[in-house]
Amino acid sequence: MALKTGDEYLKSVADLKLEAHMMGHKSGDLGRHGLVKPSQKAVAFTFDAAHDPATQDLFCVESSLCKQEINRFTHLHQSTEDLVNKVKMQRYCGISTACCFQRCVGLDAANAIFSTTYDCDQEHGTDYHQRFKEYWAWVQTNDLVVDGAMTDPKGDRGKRPKDQVDPDLFLRVKERREGGIVISGAKLHQTGMLNSHEILVMPTLTMRPGEEAWAVCCAVPTNEKGVRYIYGRQASDTRKLEADPLDVGNSFGGQEVMTVFEDVFVPGERVFLDGEVDFSGTLVERFASYHRQSYGGCKVGVGDALIGATALIAQMNGVAKASHIREKIVDMIHLNETIFSCGIACSAMGAPTASGNYLVNLLLANVCKLNVTRFPYELARLATDVAGGLLGTMPSAADLNDPVTGPYIKKYLAANPNYPVVDRMKVLRLIENLVVGAGAVGYLVESMHGAGPPTAQRIMIGRQANLEQKVEQVKNMLGIA
Ligand SMILES: Cc1cc2nc3c(=O)[nH]c(=O)nc-3n(C[C@H](O)[C@H](O)[C@H](O)COP(=O)(O)OP(=O)(O)OC[C@H]3O[C@@H](n4cnc5c(N)ncnc54)[C@H](O)[C@@H]3O)c2cc1C
Repeated sequence: MALKTGDEYLKSVADLKLEAHMMGHKSGDLGRHGLVKPSQKAVAFTFDAAHDPATQDLFCVESSLCKQEINRFTHLHQSTEDLVNKVKMQRYCGISTACCFQRCVGLDAANAIFSTTYDCDQEHGTDYHQRFKEYWAWVQTNDLVVDGAMTDPKGDRGKRPKDQVDPDLFLRVKERREGGIVISGAKLHQTGMLNSHEILVMPTLTMRPGEEAWAVCCAVPTNEKGVRYIYGRQASDTRKLEADPLDVGNSFGGQEVMTVFEDVFVPGERVFLDGEVDFSGTLVERFASYHRQSYGGCKVGVGDALIGATALIAQMNGVAKASHIREKIVDMIHLNETIFSCGIACSAMGAPTASGNYLVNLLLANVCKLNVTRFPYELARLATDVAGGLLGTMPSAADLNDPVTGPYIKKYLAANPNYPVVDRMKVLRLIENLVVGAGAVGYLVESMHGAGPPTAQRIMIGRQANLEQKVEQVKNMLGIA
């Protein structure tokens, strides 16, 4: 059971019978829904890769908790080699799906909660770590997909949680009942939520004394009573509903969902932080750093797909040998590999936590993510430059197949004779998907805001860089007292 196939995963998630509000309708049977299907296909890929002889060494790993072979997407990192392999696995998924494959947030949440619960127990005499170990061994054994739910609606950004007009604008413990807690609030932008079995709820920022109700971390099944889903729209998303795959651009896709928790009961054994405000910041910081490392793999893989598509369209357009085109492709590779280098560097420079799992180097993980907030936009600009204006104006698949317009399209969109027009259109649609279509949500908007906007990384870089030490070293070197 510890290694599901893609089909077994799809069945297991269908068995949850989740429902969501999507574009004004309540929808069930989500696996068949045209907007959801591409995102489930991307998650299923992460399961099939664990059975593919070419990739199983990377995707399969022995669990430190249940001593079985598990999918690396549920692994607690035991070494810097594990951290590096995580980034390599994410890059492979990125180039294979050219979208967000949605399984990283839960993995990053688990590793952050594992070490934070250990530290919290040492300080407060709580027993969260053992609870979490038992829970996560169950997740690993059943090869589950877990949504990492951190981002609160946050209301007025200038106000603390307790000063908001509505206390639910930050998810909170609303009530205590026999054997557990009742939570109320919402989490926004939840990646792959409707493709997940479980939700790991975390606080969104460092809480202060007096904000204990908002310092909560717990696990909730996605089909729990009181949990409600509202599907997020992506640019060009309805292209996914169209019959001809040529207009869609990519048969894989991402998914983000607004998730409302309406008085949801969480039993004590699934609560991993409850009022210990001094550990809310530790959890946020560790999760964010793991997640910033993740972007050094997944967005690089999507970048690989964009570079490949750009080089191919240059060939199809007949300009591949032009010196400025070659330079632009090299610039794209340089930017993409710079992100990857940071992902690998923060992994290789990682270190063990007191709980035994490995944490990335916080400074380098934040440098990695700060680059991710910039470089994919430059990659997208270069791809748009090389691809040409057809990227924004190309006729539809229906017009290509129409007996009247089709011959004109084939005649006037012909370029390099080695490539049929339909293949040229396929490549242009993939680039369009990534730079201005539904895929741009995952490749660009998520690169900016996922795991926090650039200012969050700047703050961490400022904190981690040890500027005082550099000043002291220069003073020593120059003999300045
Ligand atoms: C595609 C996508 C997928 C995502 N997936 C997930 C997910 O799976 N799980 C999850 O938990 N989250 C997810 N997120 C959420 C992501 O982490 C947040 O979008 C991000 O942290 C920014 O928060 P925000 O959107 O509320 O923007 P804001 O916090 O409103 O930030 C907008 C701008 O305002 C600035 N700002 C905010 N507050 C202040 C302040 N007090 N003072 C000065 N400036 C301020 C910021 O620096 C930024 O420049 C995802 C986001 C995207 C776009």
